[in-house]
Amino acid sequence: MSDRLKGQVIAITGGAAGIGLAVANAAVREGAKVALIDLDGDLAGRSAGALRKQGHEAAGFGADVTNAAGIAAALDSAGQAVGPLSGLVNNAGIAGFGSVHEADPKAWDRIMAVNVTGTFLASKAVLPGMLARRKGSIVNFGSVAGVVGIPTMAAYCAAKGAIVNLTRQMAADYSGKGVRVNAVCPGTVASTGMGQQLLGSDTSPETQARRLAKYPIGRFGNPEDIAEAVVFLLSDQAAFVSGAAFAVDGGMTAI
Ligand code: NAD
Repeated sequence: MSDRLKGQVIAITGGAAGIGLAVANAAVREGAKVALIDLDGDLAGRSAGALRKQGHEAAGFGADVTNAAGIAAALDSAGQAVGPLSGLVNNAGIAGFGSVHEADPKAWDRIMAVNVTGTFLASKAVLPGMLARRKGSIVNFGSVAGVVGIPTMAAYCAAKGAIVNLTRQMAADYSGKGVRVNAVCPGTVASTGMGQQLLGSDTSPETQARRLAKYPIGRFGNPEDIAEAVVFLLSDQAAFVSGAAFAVDGGMTAI
């Protein structure tokens, strides 16, 4: 353990499981206090309890990031329980399949709402406090799907592309006011709920080899790979980094 996030209080949406929980684990190891905010409030509470048992300061809250009042109330409770927020990780996201000509408009709306509107609403809720303190770091979750087009993932690619450019826009507004805003753009992380959904049931060696051929590094990511990048962006080591779309994808978007 080192102290890269000592003194920081970080809220993580979608923090109850998957990559969000890996970010929480990495953040507390670096000295941060964390608030886990998730649609699954029970799981957020249990995940925070597990962190407390290891001696860390953590609290869990239930909220849907698409509900403006709900996410604002959860972030407010988080600030009161754990301390004034210095960091926000907009990790909550959902994926789905469908090319434009066959996509379900309701599924499109939900994917845009959770990923894009959720990032907007949670950021909107924490920014007044961060700006007043002139201290903050926001890390948004893009994806390789926000950088290149992925067949049959119209809504998800549109949503992640929007997040990448919203990140740049927010950096333009807030970097001079003490708040840095960056995005991570992960490649496939197979072990999470979403990773399993994306890879589906075809685990044949041929399919696996075809998928891995897109990854020069020769493997998919794990949640800890992504968490390390998020910790860096949250930390003062990234003091001159704002508006970045940080690829954490084993070279997938380099080829
Ligand atoms: P996951 O499905 O395993 O976990 C997502 C968490 O977000 C869950 O705990 C879920 O309950 C929560 N959540 C979902 N909708 C929510 C809502 N409306 N409000 C609050 N919480 C909500 O997903 P993951 O693989 O850990 O992905 C985390 C982030 O990383 C997402 O933004 C995802 O798009 C991105 N990402 C994932 C991969 C991958 O391959 N897994 C690749 C690139 C980017």
